[in-house]
Amino acid sequence: MDSQVRNRIAGVLLGQAVGDALGVPYEFDSAPIKAGRAEMLGGGLGHYRPGEWSDDTQMAMCIAEVARSSHGAALTSQSGLDQVAAWFLKWLNSGPGDMGVLTSRVLHPASHQPETAGLAQRMSRIARQAAADGSAGNGGLMRTAIVGLSALQDRQQTARTASAICALTHAHQLCQESAVLWSEAVRVAVSEGRLDIRGGLELLEPASRPYWEDGIVQAESQDPGTFRANGFTVTALQAAWSSIHATRGMGADPARFVATLQTAIGIGHDTDTVAAIAGGLLGAYFGASGIPANLARQLNGWPEHGGRPSGRRDLVRLALETAGSGWSQCGSLLASGSSRTVSRAVPHPEDPQVILGTEDDLVRAKEIGVTAAVSLSRLGDPEIAASGLDPRLIAEVWLIDSDDRSKNAHLLWTLHDAAETVKALRDEGHTVLLHCVAAEHRTPAVALAYSLLLGRPVAEANGRIEQALNHPKQGLLWQTVYDSARPATPPP
Ligand SMILES: [Mg+2]
Repeated sequence: MDSQVRNRIAGVLLGQAVGDALGVPYEFDSAPIKAGRAEMLGGGLGHYRPGEWSDDTQMAMCIAEVARSSHGAALTSQSGLDQVAAWFLKWLNSGPGDMGVLTSRVLHPASHQPETAGLAQRMSRIARQAAADGSAGNGGLMRTAIVGLSALQDRQQTARTASAICALTHAHQLCQESAVLWSEAVRVAVSEGRLDIRGGLELLEPASRPYWEDGIVQAESQDPGTFRANGFTVTALQAAWSSIHATRGMGADPARFVATLQTAIGIGHDTDTVAAIAGGLLGAYFGASGIPANLARQLNGWPEHGGRPSGRRDLVRLALETAGSGWSQCGSLLASGSSRTVSRAVPHPEDPQVILGTEDDLVRAKEIGVTAAVSLSRLGDPEIAASGLDPRLIAEVWLIDSDDRSKNAHLLWTLHDAAETVKALRDEGHTVLLHCVAAEHRTPAVALAYSLLLGRPVAEANGRIEQALNHPKQGLLWQTVYDSARPATPPP
């Protein structure tokens, strides 16, 4: 699978969780919102820990748990839907901190007869009764981004799945249609690398299309703040899309990811849900490499997922497995038993509290005295565990070691984001390991970006890094950073 598509797949649940955890503190005015300055403070209705994501992403993970084993193919089969419904009940029994009204009105009665066979039908029947009064909350839409990964080549199947999974708890036609539109937008963002909310209109019944066309035009022509009554599935979709549309001037600049989430949270009311919805689609568009590493590292998981704690890495793993693009390709040197890299552990020439090193140095984190890490290579769980560091103090950067320009999306941004993450950890007082597999290409490139961030002249900084790391490779990554500091040569 194309490495940029893989990157975008990996961004879906990660982007959603970042939006969710950023929005949690301000849910239904739990805390005052300082415009543009939402932080992962925890709290909210569910008394979440800082960085913990809420029901929106938790329920999306339940769907992914079923999709991963079948690569999404069986999600609309009776047994697939029964399993999703069973995961929803497992989630209910885990005692989630917070739950939407309609979801609660369906899951509690459904739990009285929890046998998996026929569960989806029973749950959907209760959902239809619950929707008879016209209830059309945003609880089906909030968890639907992951469905966009379940059939990347098949828009009809994506629409059927979005509808059926939504209807397990949210049976109103508008709920199902909003889920179809958003799942299709995620599928298009991942497979084609573009943002398009109208792509799913033709998947709806012809009679429904003018209503949604009007709704989208409203979202694009009115201020995002207009959509404050966003507990309703239609206004929730409008709030999320209006926030994305409002930042369209930033184009494909990954800085738009955070700018949009801040806009979405600034709308107020159901802040975590609107930001989770927007974050899922933005993560699909910008990919894991376009989500600030210093923000993603602050995610604090969910203490109770299928009987065990889950973390940020589970989001990436579940998304890749849902799309049939396995996590196993993200190698662990420890688990594979392949030859270990050698330790380097060289102090950064401009800041000796930054240690330049290898994967071996991460495993020896305690020994070499680092308290945090910025990892530029794909780690296995054994490396993380062996480091002894809190996973929230290991920022993982999605950066492919390649001289092929097509492998990394927005390469310069990602390299500088990695350097800024080193800086953020240093500002918190940490001694930081900056590492890749062997400290030959990625590490020196980001080390140079860090020197530039500290205001050092590029040629001098480069000379000192060359000396420290004994003449590392000067490939595309290094060249990209180096050129970013040089004034462009004027045309002859
Ligand atoms: Mg929530």
